[in-house]
Amino acid sequence: MSDAPELPKKEEEEVSSEPEEQSEDSSEEEFVGDTDMDFLRSLFSNTLGLGLAEKVLDDLTLEGVARYINAGKCKNVICMVGAGISTSAGIPDFRSPGTGLYANLQKYNLPYPEAIFQIDYFKKHPEPFFTLARELYPGQFKPTICHYFMKMMKDKGLLKRCYTQNIDTLERVAGLEGNDLIEAHGTFHTSHCVSSCCRKEYTLDWMKEKIFSDEIPKCEKCSSLVKPDIVFFGEGLPARVFSSVKKDFPCCDLLIIMGTSLQVQPFASLISRVSKTCPRLLINMEKAGEASPTLGFLGFGGGMDFDSEKAYRDVAHISSCDDGCLALADLLGWKAELEELVKKEHARIDIQDEKKNEPSGESKGAAAKASSASADAPAKAEE
Ligand SMILES: [Zn+2]
Repeated sequence: MSDAPELPKKEEEEVSSEPEEQSEDSSEEEFVGDTDMDFLRSLFSNTLGLGLAEKVLDDLTLEGVARYINAGKCKNVICMVGAGISTSAGIPDFRSPGTGLYANLQKYNLPYPEAIFQIDYFKKHPEPFFTLARELYPGQFKPTICHYFMKMMKDKGLLKRCYTQNIDTLERVAGLEGNDLIEAHGTFHTSHCVSSCCRKEYTLDWMKEKIFSDEIPKCEKCSSLVKPDIVFFGEGLPARVFSSVKKDFPCCDLLIIMGTSLQVQPFASLISRVSKTCPRLLINMEKAGEASPTLGFLGFGGGMDFDSEKAYRDVAHISSCDDGCLALADLLGWKAELEELVKKEHARIDIQDEKKNEPSGESKGAAAKASSASADAPAKAEE
């Protein structure tokens, strides 16, 4: 809550059942209000033919984007990423019904699969979530080529911010730090007591020890449940998301969207918050975010336009995120450097894992301690 920037202005809008989430919902209301203004603006400019945006890419291809970057024309790249950037790390797609994780949840006897991430269900039955958390705990997976590509952009001074929908913390493992990242759906990095009058904060270390010793994490102060700060269904997005969007998107000069089908709101609507001249590159297995009468937010001119006669700034590169990043790195002359970085970092993680596994798991407590020690390295680097 320390960086909660805007306090609620109005309470009459519908609020979630969680009192502690009100300020976050209010930020979201304000945010949606802004989008209405954008709607009017683009409606006028589109229908009246005003403000025909300047074409900044010489070609709507990956090559065109690479020439734009190499010409030194962008310094404020924003990445928007989703589950697709982590699938090659072996992490199932959390929120895709049918295909991802939900298909494997029968063993938890849930009333319906999404219940595992529903805040009200969790407060009554926390066990399934923590069982799952143990299986998917951050630190057991390696960042992908795509994650390291973003790290390279940071090192080269190009990355303004990475907005991620993922909760696997692989961006942090790859070397992006708190200030480089907006974890729009929260993070395992910190945890809080769920009681609205307590909200005591707990560290990754603390949570990890509980999870790996098969204990349901309970607050040391008030005995309520403690939950990692990932955003459950029924909770608002972190306030920092909305305040950062307002600062970051107007000055973005290249938006790179990777591994997301742009179907989860309000995250998806962020693509319409960059300026009219800002090129937008989608690297994904399929096209996404295009204007469509069935998708409300995209109907007013903020949607992607890859193919129409009027297309002037949106580029779709249809491939896996790793292949797309490698191809772009190649065009930028960064490929060898990227491959070297991935190799070096993966070797480093392997060594950590070996150390962690040495006590051969006789005592769960010891194993948990060893694993938290190594998985902490990226977190500490941030401070
Ligand atoms: Zn508490």
